[in-house]
Amino acid sequence: METIHTTEARALADLQKKDLAIDALKARLADIPLKIKGLNAAFAGKKAAMLAAREAFLSLQSRKKDLELRIAEAEEGIRKHQLQLNQVKDNAAFKALLTEIDGDKAAKDELETGVLTLLEEIDKASVQDKALQAEVKQVEDAKNSEVAALETAAKDAAAALEAAAAARAVSAAAIDAGLLEKYEAIRAARAGLALAAVHEEPSTGKLTCSGCHMGLTPQKAVDVKKADTLTFCPDCRRLMYLEKTVYGQP
Ligand SMILES: [Zn+2]
Repeated sequence: METIHTTEARALADLQKKDLAIDALKARLADIPLKIKGLNAAFAGKKAAMLAAREAFLSLQSRKKDLELRIAEAEEGIRKHQLQLNQVKDNAAFKALLTEIDGDKAAKDELETGVLTLLEEIDKASVQDKALQAEVKQVEDAKNSEVAALETAAKDAAAALEAAAAARAVSAAAIDAGLLEKYEAIRAARAGLALAAVHEEPSTGKLTCSGCHMGLTPQKAVDVKKADTLTFCPDCRRLMYLEKTVYGQP
């Protein structure tokens, strides 16, 4: 069967348009949770970076505290040995104590240099920590408002889908059952498009099937221009129609 004669070509073309709109709404609805998930994942990544930077900042501070503790210990050692210095009579013991004190002082110097280096690192880390916190806050605010907008869009799309499905049911009920069955079968097999509008190239008048973009044979070009006729595309097996035939000359 190469053509179908029906007075319902226009009703069927309308139904196809409704179904495409419904499919688009469904796709939009399905896409929204994925978008929200992506936004949340991007935010989680940013937050993880902030927490890692904070961790590094705290670790530097704890290393500094540790060094300060060891400096206090070294100072305590110096004090202790200096007190002992006043009590020893023996020359060798006196020299040994001086050596101990020198060692403590050298250790203290080294620790203090370490603290200075750490202070510089802590300053840098603190700046980075503050910047990341501000950035995370900004990203979170932006993310939250985007998510809220997406949730509103989902509600709107769901309401639009419900209305479209109800209108579609009314339109479908008015179409001949046999014709509707054919339409549904092609639609199921051809990615939702059963009725493909034929595209007419304005400059050349060349006709192509919008379902598969193949050019129409001369016979098909004649068929598609006939009133109350739907003709099969030999390439994609969709039913083709010409807008100006089905809906009347503009
Ligand atoms: Zn085709």
